[in-house]
Amino acid sequence: MKYYIMFGPPGAGKGTHAVALRDKYNLCHLSTGELLRAEIAAGTGLGRQAQKLIEGGNLVPDEVVERMIEKRFNSITDVEGFLLDGFPRTLGQANDLDKMLAARGDSVTAVISLMIPDEMVHQRIRRRAAIEGRADDASDVVIQNRINTYHAQTEPLIDYYKKQGKYFEVQADADTIEENRARVLDLMAKINK
Ligand code: AMP
Repeated sequence: MKYYIMFGPPGAGKGTHAVALRDKYNLCHLSTGELLRAEIAAGTGLGRQAQKLIEGGNLVPDEVVERMIEKRFNSITDVEGFLLDGFPRTLGQANDLDKMLAARGDSVTAVISLMIPDEMVHQRIRRRAAIEGRADDASDVVIQNRINTYHAQTEPLIDYYKKQGKYFEVQADADTIEENRARVLDLMAKINK
């Protein structure tokens, strides 16, 4: 199994471009954000626990997302690999993912990092708020908190994966989705050469 990580700040286009990679490379796209939103919509205990944290722009506890991910690793087998979108987001999660994969005789294949400047995060999320209606996209304060959380807790993963020689970056700052998608597909082709 291959294990790719879609990495980058909120609004960088991880979910959008994950779909193109999923289809082309026969991968299972696992978005922890989407899985959590489904739990909230279904009104589960986990959803209720996560809702306040998500709506404040804070991370949910590592164990919660790790359990969701491991469950899928154990049950989904009819694919060439997994495309993790929004996970890992902390060094603790990255360490635990390495352990989870080592126990399966596997390891992270590559990290595909989508980079955009902070100003663009605000612009893109404001645009997305009108389309998707996500509660955590609706307020500038929450968006800023997500950006701060990204810099403080998630950005250190760049060095973590650079040290492993697994970090690949693309500038996802073009004006059109098509141009950014072409850049992502091009990078993925190079990773798999
Ligand atoms: P996303 O759809 O990836 O932007 O995620 C939406 C929200 O879900 C995040 O702002 C977090 O509150 C929560 N979340 C998603 N993935 C994780 C994760 N790996 N660790 C902790 N919280 C997460």
